[in-house]
Amino acid sequence: MKPFTYERASTPVQAATAVARQPMARFIAGGTNLLDLMKLQIETPAHLVDVNGLALDKIAPTADGGLRIGAMVRNADLASDERVRRDYGVLARALLSGASAQLRNRATTAGNLLQRTRCPYFYDTNQPCNKRQPGSGCAAIDGISRQLAVVGSSRACIATHPSDMAVAMRVLDAAIETVRADGRQRVIPIADFHRLPGDTPQLETALEPGELITAVTLPKPTGGTHIYRKVRDRASYAFALVSVAAIVQRDGTGRVALGGVAPKPWRIEAADALLPTGAKAVTARLFAGAQPTRDNAFKLPLAERTIAAVLTQARA
Ligand code: SF4
Repeated sequence: MKPFTYERASTPVQAATAVARQPMARFIAGGTNLLDLMKLQIETPAHLVDVNGLALDKIAPTADGGLRIGAMVRNADLASDERVRRDYGVLARALLSGASAQLRNRATTAGNLLQRTRCPYFYDTNQPCNKRQPGSGCAAIDGISRQLAVVGSSRACIATHPSDMAVAMRVLDAAIETVRADGRQRVIPIADFHRLPGDTPQLETALEPGELITAVTLPKPTGGTHIYRKVRDRASYAFALVSVAAIVQRDGTGRVALGGVAPKPWRIEAADALLPTGAKAVTARLFAGAQPTRDNAFKLPLAERTIAAVLTQARA
């Protein structure tokens, strides 16, 4: 690991200022992803700004009947919150399907949104990777790509976003609250938060340098049946090959988002409208323009079968 300096921030603006003034500075919260990346020298921050001491660890109701989740709320605490379990079951289930109990005790809401891809070539510094080293190429495109993206990818990068939580938040229409070094705050809809790779896969979110996530808000509950179904190579502690987050109402209408198939949580609102007609039409709309590789073309029929199973479960 490369040497780095460290400070504890006492306010969100102080934290944002400390990171904004040094290009090689990073926030650290749970550290469950960043520390691994630092040990492998994929991330080499010169300065860490610890945000664990900020008072951002509360879950509170919003004035419009939703829920505001502090950026530092641990994944385990969010999954076990009575209001989340009752009104946002898809989120509780997605959280519990991710990582391990130990990691969920440490990982934070903001950190989960910001975790980096698990593309194996991203972690192998002997291989070209446009995300790790812009302009170096992409070893995955002609390499082993079974786990990687089938839609939303580019000629520069076919990595997937690894989060389960973010897929549930996408189907819930969450919004991300942030603060910048000058104190300005903004709210980013989750649909706009994660970027597609295009020619710049190293840019993964809409955040500006030094911009700190302070909270995630969920709108008023929609009711309906909440399902999160994750298909993976082993029963626990594995990333999704395909995951489906769905909220289905009694009349068959609803929403659906996918994980494990794209560089960001994958939801096409026009596909939601097709839910009453069945999984085939929904899948076709979600994967319009898909460019699977030889290794991962199986994800398209797998996604259709998983959506069909979720709709059957919802009807039952
Ligand atoms: Fe890197 Fe993306 Fe290619 Fe993986 S898919 S090697 S993360 S550029």
